[in-house]
Amino acid sequence: PPFLDAATPRPRPAFLDDGPHGLFIGGRLRPAQTQETFPTIDPTTETVLTAISAAGTADVDAAVASARAAFEAPSWSAISPQARSRLLFQIADVIEAHREELATLDTLDMGAPLAGSLLMVDHAVEVFRHYAGWPTKIYGQTGPGDPSRLDYVLRQPLGVVAAITAWNGPMLQTSWKLAPALATGNTVVLKPAEQSPLSALRFAALLAETDLPAGVVNVVTGTGPVTGAALVAHPGVDKVSFTGSGPVGKRILTASADTLTRVTLELGGKSPTIVFADADLRAAAATAALAFCGGSGQGCVSGTRVLVQEPVREQFGELLAEELGRYVPGDPFHPDTVMGPIAHREHFDRVVSYFDVAREDGARIALGGRPLGETGLFLPPTLIENVTNDMRIAQEEIFGPVAAIMSFTDADDAVRLGDDTVYGLSASVWTRDLSTAHRTAAALRVGTVWVNTWGEMTSGTMPFGGFKESGIGREHGTDVLDAYTETKAVMMRL
Ligand code: NAD
Repeated sequence: PPFLDAATPRPRPAFLDDGPHGLFIGGRLRPAQTQETFPTIDPTTETVLTAISAAGTADVDAAVASARAAFEAPSWSAISPQARSRLLFQIADVIEAHREELATLDTLDMGAPLAGSLLMVDHAVEVFRHYAGWPTKIYGQTGPGDPSRLDYVLRQPLGVVAAITAWNGPMLQTSWKLAPALATGNTVVLKPAEQSPLSALRFAALLAETDLPAGVVNVVTGTGPVTGAALVAHPGVDKVSFTGSGPVGKRILTASADTLTRVTLELGGKSPTIVFADADLRAAAATAALAFCGGSGQGCVSGTRVLVQEPVREQFGELLAEELGRYVPGDPFHPDTVMGPIAHREHFDRVVSYFDVAREDGARIALGGRPLGETGLFLPPTLIENVTNDMRIAQEEIFGPVAAIMSFTDADDAVRLGDDTVYGLSASVWTRDLSTAHRTAAALRVGTVWVNTWGEMTSGTMPFGGFKESGIGREHGTDVLDAYTETKAVMMRL
């Protein structure tokens, strides 16, 4: 499909023209007190979609005050777990009822193929339904104390959660942060990425169709250094749940030290796809291609280092090249498009700069390696050979459809190479040998291992997060309780 296909309709949801697109505070969309706005841009056409309010410190104060008041109000703090559960089901229903509109907004905002955005919105619905089951299943404990005492443990919400998200999966990240925070009784100030804020604002407006009390969810839009930083430094924020880049994650951790704000960080990766010689090579090649071209490679778990066992290196390289031929970038609204543009210009330039980095370091670009077309931010799948794992292209997160292919000798070598970056987010392991699969999965220092598959998601049943510099803490699974609650020990003399 062409980059911009005249025959393919480009939908424009009415919400885009309903401006000004204000902040969502206390249950109302309202302009920022700064009176400032910033444009949000469609990466397919590089045209402005609409203007978005830029929240300043006073706006962040108002959003945090609104979340605090809602946290303390009986309408939220004193409701039964059953009632909280019903509210989460209502939120899921309202997202489902507007799935096409929300997916369209995400595709316009950051360029993912519409089918992919729909999958993400449907996933968000499932995530809210999963967490709707939690409020009625959060138990405390009794302690094995002195018989003359009753010792017990209460699990209580933290308070106001600041949820800060990256641009690559807007509705997915909104659901991953809001659903567990609300299920455990917190209130939220969400700051979506400035490159893709539309679906978060539309979602907020849709909350009016539910019975969620005003102020339980607030949304502030703006840049990281102004709006995000004001939120992180705010003494009224009890917890920051952040998804984004390593450097910003580290800055947030430092900034939170003064107030000892709780922090969970979901950061980047340089994940390996490890292909043993005994694997189903065709399936491995198809999935290895998807793992770094899906979402135009803009995924934290993208498989950007393809590690192949020596005897099948050449054969696998040919199969992979064949599979990469399917990833022709095109108009994200065209039904056949499997790969859209890069989400924004600054990031596009950064990804392109790595082609020179690779060449300067002595690697060889075997496929792709140059921008496509004149408008829009389109890049082809790019496969880099002659790579050693110490090169920048093998160590740094590029966040585009770019992978380095390398070889290994045996399982120990695969694990050594797989782990040889500062990251530890995920890995995909391909083998038909059960022992190799389990041993390699256990040995790798990463938060998620996919065996003979990649990128599988659950509605929230499995923990997600990183070892090493890929983050701190986990989202989902049973670990999620620790991320959004405090425990309190109560000891009572009888
Ligand atoms: P980014 O770190 O630049 O921005 C993420 C968010 O942080 C944005 O909302 C931004 O406005 C905000 N921000 C920026 N500076 C801030 C500051 N000083 N204080 C507070 N907030 C600030 O990341 P990005 O470029 O938007 O996203 C790409 C990164 O996200 C990649 O590294 C990717 O791997 C990572 N990511 C991780 C996961 C995961 O779950 N592990 C998922 C998706 C993306």
